[in-house]
Amino acid sequence: MAKIELQDWPAPLENGGETVLETMIANGVPFPYSCASGDCGACKGRLLCGEVAHDSAPEGILSAAERADGYVLACRCAPKGDIRIAALDELVALPPARRQRGWVVAQQRRRGDVIVLQIRPQQPVEFLAGQFFYLKFDNLPQRAYSVASLPGSEELEFHIRVVPDGKTSGYAARDDLLGSEAMVDGPHGHGYWRQNHDGPIVAIAGGTGLAPMLSIIGAALREDARRHIHLYYAAREEADVYWEAELQALVRQYPNLQVTCSLSRAQAPAQGPLPRRYERVTESLRQDWPDLADAKLYVAGPPRMVEAVAAVARELSLAPRDLHTDPFSDSVDHALDGALRTWVRRWLARWRRPPVALPQAATQES
Ligand SMILES: Cc1cc2nc3c(=O)[nH]c(=O)nc-3n(C[C@H](O)[C@H](O)[C@H](O)COP(=O)(O)OP(=O)(O)OC[C@H]3O[C@@H](n4cnc5c(N)ncnc54)[C@H](O)[C@@H]3O)c2cc1C
Repeated sequence: MAKIELQDWPAPLENGGETVLETMIANGVPFPYSCASGDCGACKGRLLCGEVAHDSAPEGILSAAERADGYVLACRCAPKGDIRIAALDELVALPPARRQRGWVVAQQRRRGDVIVLQIRPQQPVEFLAGQFFYLKFDNLPQRAYSVASLPGSEELEFHIRVVPDGKTSGYAARDDLLGSEAMVDGPHGHGYWRQNHDGPIVAIAGGTGLAPMLSIIGAALREDARRHIHLYYAAREEADVYWEAELQALVRQYPNLQVTCSLSRAQAPAQGPLPRRYERVTESLRQDWPDLADAKLYVAGPPRMVEAVAAVARELSLAPRDLHTDPFSDSVDHALDGALRTWVRRWLARWRRPPVALPQAATQES
């Protein structure tokens, strides 16, 4: 059995051939991760000693240069012998996920086929700004949706884009949803707001990727109203801009908040109250931020956009630990699979081993 030594973790972990991330999860280590399938980069770490067998990963998420520098995705690699590894992010115990009933208390139709749902869970639920929940309606499969609300809210707000033939998103678009029951499972995910960073925040939202960004920037501004934040809303067309009035109100309220809509397929001079740019959001980022070294970058939305932004951000000197992504993978089964596997492993681990105590520093929220 190979041993995995994790920096800042008191005891070595035993690996029986599974991935590094699976070993962490089975041992109750709060190693950061999200999709568990190589799409998001949340579980990126640095190999300090030893060798791993590494499956392929998207270049935008783990570049060849990073690989050469010793960076790995814990979900895509297994040790070849004893290894020592460091997480890039803090080892933080996140609020526990739980599954409970909830009810739809508000439903709104927006432009761009977006439905905004507010769900009141039976018990208030603790979450970090930018996390996501699994929602399950009726006998449909459960799907992941990022929360737009601020921590502490009684209602959970979700922005759901209706996709063609989409089971859950199609259900969310029904006319008679008020009062309907939904199963709410969460919170999940590591794309949450890092409170201990005081540099500028760059938030990039592709489509309904706006939901977690609203939660993140809302929480950051609630803590410090003079926070420097630039939010880019990335979409194809004018008709996709579905939250303009609310964003405009935020810009009026907070002097250091900037919002730009980057529309990749629209033609100038369509205009709205918020500034428009007629280009891909990666271009907007390059032009506005020649150097991202002091920034934290949060990105949510379609996986290809997330990957493209991650690749550009690296060119602009963003440190890997300052990138926090939430790709809305359409291979959702991966995410669900990952969650289910994780749950089964956690359950098994509870029976196999006594729980590992978190070191003091790791139990404190930063
Ligand atoms: C961590 C995470 C957070 C997410 N947060 C949000 C969110 O806040 N808002 C939101 O609108 N979505 C979000 N998603 C996507 C969401 O989970 C579902 O994938 C999406 O709503 C489609 O589910 P469905 O049941 O309606 O479609 P399905 O019945 O699963 O699929 C129907 C068809 O649509 C295609 N399809 C599935 N998903 C997508 C997609 N995202 N884009 C385009 N085509 C698709 C499928 O390939 C299939 O052909 C998130 C996904 C993840 C992994």
